[in-house]
Amino acid sequence: MRQRIRKGILIFSLLMFPITFMLLSPFVIVVSASNGVLNGSAMIFGTLLLFSMVGSRLFCGWLCPGGALQEHITVVNSRHWNSKGKNMSKYMIWTIWFFFIVYLWLQNRPLKGNFLYFIEFNLQFFIIYSIVMTLIYLFTIMTGRRGMCHSLCWMAPFMVIGEKLGDFLHIPRFRLKAKAEDCISCGKCTKNCPMGLDVAAMVKEEVTDSYECINCLECVDGCPKKAISFGIYQKQR
Ligand code: SF4
Ligand code: SF4
Repeated sequence: MRQRIRKGILIFSLLMFPITFMLLSPFVIVVSASNGVLNGSAMIFGTLLLFSMVGSRLFCGWLCPGGALQEHITVVNSRHWNSKGKNMSKYMIWTIWFFFIVYLWLQNRPLKGNFLYFIEFNLQFFIIYSIVMTLIYLFTIMTGRRGMCHSLCWMAPFMVIGEKLGDFLHIPRFRLKAKAEDCISCGKCTKNCPMGLDVAAMVKEEVTDSYECINCLECVDGCPKKAISFGIYQKQR
């Protein structure tokens, strides 16, 4: 039932994406910063960083329209796309982009806040929207399970930084917890994980913390032995 609700919310979010697209856009932040404006997407990304200190990556698993699109592509390519190297590229892209924005902000001080800055629904918008959706679609078909989340997503680093900051400050946050003795090694959790994590191995080690985990709870709900639980916990080890 919970997974049906999650997937329903994701589909709704995907249907709303033409409206929310500009509020999740890294490009609009650049345009706004060039004009001395702190726009809606900058405010949302900052809010997500703060939220993830307690809420981890719930946004990615339950609300992200890009994630919703990618989960539907799993029927075409369900390859597990997760490794340190593949995950690093998004941080490299993010670092260049972030410092460029900070540079623009410093150049164009004082900043004016304008949540809806640069939001227009015209032909140009629909062309850009269609191109971005096609690129997400093609990239995920070529890579595998939420390949874009692992390798390209410009929002994920904000949330990972929030999680790391929360851990550094010893703030309890939303996490999985495993009981290795209850696990029968059926592998269902690994098979179901939309991020392609080796959840069964994580359960065996009783180390279920991963910055790539999007807190979708597929592993929790699919485990026949209820070996995985979730809650607001301190960092394990
Ligand atoms: S689904 Fe449950 S029992 Fe099966 S491998 Fe995963 S944790 Fe173990
Ligand atoms: S480890 Fe579990 S909660 Fe995390 S992404 Fe995989 S299935 Fe979802």
